[in-house]
Amino acid sequence: MKPNKSSIRMTQYRIKPQSGTALTLQKGQILRIIDVEGEQVSDLACFVLGNINEYFSSGRTIDYNEKIYLSTGDILYSNQSNPMLSVLNDKVGKHDLLFAPCSREMLALSYGITEAHPNCLDNLTNHLGQYGIKASQITNVFNIFMNATLSAHGNITIAPPLSKAGDYIDLRAHMDLIVGITACSAKKCNNYHCTSIDVEIFEAV
Ligand SMILES: [Zn+2]
Repeated sequence: MKPNKSSIRMTQYRIKPQSGTALTLQKGQILRIIDVEGEQVSDLACFVLGNINEYFSSGRTIDYNEKIYLSTGDILYSNQSNPMLSVLNDKVGKHDLLFAPCSREMLALSYGITEAHPNCLDNLTNHLGQYGIKASQITNVFNIFMNATLSAHGNITIAPPLSKAGDYIDLRAHMDLIVGITACSAKKCNNYHCTSIDVEIFEAV
């Protein structure tokens, strides 16, 4: 089921630095998220097409995988405990399930940034709005390539992503989905240099 010579690439799209997009994914299609230059985080929010009250749950995903770092073979679950996406291929092996998308409030509280600044929550809201999804419904995201490490005492350290230029993760859809994706706008988790994310969709054949 992994993209190979017989897979057909249906879509290719570049998310510019500090921006986002939203798209629909059909059951069986494979979504590839590519770190173009390296050390760039991409937030992914996910809703069921036709029922936006069912959405990706980081809590359920941590629970059923019994881990906080997902990689090849692991499954992203919904708030109703249904599989939404499977990790088919993963060139990095370290992503984050703990953090909410960066937001105006987070940038103010954590970094004292009070002037207007791009952020993942606004970028997700702007693009998912066309599907009737509001900011208050975007609570859980899969922070692809984000390198957050938990200590034995529960402290979290954010380090530069382990992803190098061209590294990617492939996610296969278990159902028809609405997916919001960003090139994260925060500084620290992107090693203080915000760059692009490429998105490709493959039809498995
Ligand atoms: Zn962000």
